Amino acid sequence: MNTTAEHTPLVDLMRYLSLHSAFYQDLFKKNGIDPLKIKTISDLQKIPFTHKADLQTRQADFVCVPRNKLIDHVSTSGTSGKPITLSLTESDLERLAENESNSFKIAGIHADDIIQLMCTIDRRFMAGLAYFLGARKLGAGIIRVGNGLPELQWTTIEEMKPTVLIAVPSFLNKMIHYAEANHIDLKKTSVKKVICIGEAIRHADNSLNALGRKITEKWPLQLFSTYASTEMSSAFTECEYSVGGHHQENLIIVELVDENGRVVKEGEPGELVVTPLGVEGMPLLRFKTGDICMAHSEPCKCGRKGLRLSPLLGRKNQMIKLKGTSLYPAAVYDILESHAAIKNYQIVIDSNELGTDEITIFVGLDPHENLFISEITDTFRAKLRVVPKLSVLSPDQVHKLLFPGNSRKAQKFIDNRANKLEDDTPREQSYK
Ligand SMILES: [Zn+2]
Repeated sequence: MNTTAEHTPLVDLMRYLSLHSAFYQDLFKKNGIDPLKIKTISDLQKIPFTHKADLQTRQADFVCVPRNKLIDHVSTSGTSGKPITLSLTESDLERLAENESNSFKIAGIHADDIIQLMCTIDRRFMAGLAYFLGARKLGAGIIRVGNGLPELQWTTIEEMKPTVLIAVPSFLNKMIHYAEANHIDLKKTSVKKVICIGEAIRHADNSLNALGRKITEKWPLQLFSTYASTEMSSAFTECEYSVGGHHQENLIIVELVDENGRVVKEGEPGELVVTPLGVEGMPLLRFKTGDICMAHSEPCKCGRKGLRLSPLLGRKNQMIKLKGTSLYPAAVYDILESHAAIKNYQIVIDSNELGTDEITIFVGLDPHENLFISEITDTFRAKLRVVPKLSVLSPDQVHKLLFPGNSRKAQKFIDNRANKLEDDTPREQSYK
């Protein structure tokens, strides 16, 4: 990096915040920090974290420009807890376009590609807008179909011959079912690549998970994970070698920290803390994302240097401590979804009188599949080294647990722990 330190993006950011951000002026004052002395990433670690709750309660204090310079207003999609609203200036939108255009290039997508956007571009989401702006910047063709509507998606694929889709992976499964029911030959479509948003397609070791495998077994596509969030306005996208999302160093500073806020060793799981660079409207310093992942820095075969982030292990507050092993719901989902006989399931976490976590899984199996339960426990033992309590019910009974009252969203993960933390942002698109 630049050793003269006077004009690094971090130095510029600190100067900018000291002049324009009421929130950070307060924070520096309260903590006796001279922002102009923060020049390196280790200096940065003297600054307290910024939390989601800060943005929820003091939104206006983060704004660094007059109101008429804010031209796009987006929010995160919290279904419980208050959503966060962020506002962007012209220059922030340009930065977002640059970020997403780079991210497409990392996935080997070029100006000659035609990209079908199978995601929401309105509803105050940043995601769809970011992909649109990025594709514009790249010079690629764009078809804005929006989310849902398998029939329209297929008609568009047949008519316009897109080479790239941006889609939620479980929706690709629906597209596959539609194709199978309507005699569409999945081996002969124009589509070569999919940028997968909002859901994991890989395990922590980067191999495809059950969902990723299900898709590629039927539809010969190259899948690319991308990870981004509204607060960080930056994306981490995989290259063709599928070894983690590449870090765009000019756009964001990344730290991974443990439960005590200390930076973890490379390759160890930690909570992602981000400092986006070059943001004008509402810049953030050391924002805690709540997402747990690992970072790797050995060189990638694509020639790009710098960090790569592993697939997310989970949300910080979803960590389950089971007989000395820490695990996240995603690992449990993946085991359950790899068994075709399991029709549905619900995971319930309780804390016992010793203060450790207990996990019970209600598994929906058809009555004649009961013998199969030992096979499931074997997979848990082999893959996670622990066996949760399994309770076998009929798929109908599990359905009732998943949709209590008039709940529309399946409650796959119930956390009854006494000391659970608040979490307010279920992830809908990759810019959450
Ligand atoms: Zn690479």
